[in-house]
Amino acid sequence: MQILLVEDDPFIARAVTAALESEAHAARWIPTGREALTEIRTSRPDAVLLDLGLPGMDGIDVLRTIRTMPSPSCDLPVIIVTAREALESRLEGLDAGADDYILKPFHMSELLARLRAVVRRKGPLAGDVLRAGRLSLNTVTHTCTSDGQAVTLSKREYALLAALLQRPGAILSRRQLEEKLYSPGDEPESNAVEYLIHALRRKIGADAVENIRGLGWRIRESA
Ligand code: CA
Repeated sequence: MQILLVEDDPFIARAVTAALESEAHAARWIPTGREALTEIRTSRPDAVLLDLGLPGMDGIDVLRTIRTMPSPSCDLPVIIVTAREALESRLEGLDAGADDYILKPFHMSELLARLRAVVRRKGPLAGDVLRAGRLSLNTVTHTCTSDGQAVTLSKREYALLAALLQRPGAILSRRQLEEKLYSPGDEPESNAVEYLIHALRRKIGADAVENIRGLGWRIRESA
């Protein structure tokens, strides 16, 4: 999973980042709330660990802003990390939409267990969401987003995009794509794949799917 850690204390941040990486998570540390919101909009992490006491924008305001973002960012699993023992601040965090909270100082193993529990409860499971650049495709719900905006795909457009996203960087030939898109016995028109690619590009951006002349197509990972 890709975890965003929002924490102004570099000592804690380094320890948490190391613990996350030891569990094979990709951790990204951001020290301020405003930068965290930008990061969430651009890199779509799978979960956020959010310190409440941040300079400038407070953690509670960061959390409230996340919950007003377009889907799927508004549903991001968020665990608040707080040194504030007062019941009110924990309740405020939960009321603002936190999925769980953990009090400082905490054991790394407890943090990791809570993170696993929240993601399991809330999903989307990392393996069910295919991503490349600004695109995300949920293979369970079949929802697609581009730049955080929902994109409605036809059944075949979905199958085409899923085929490309399942093999990031690979060039898929017309024949390979036809096999993914059509049942045996279906006789697609000779330009059916091109037509679908064209329709898909209109929805997700012309530069998202790259044509490799004579070979096929691939998803542009930086798109
Ligand atoms: Ca702090």
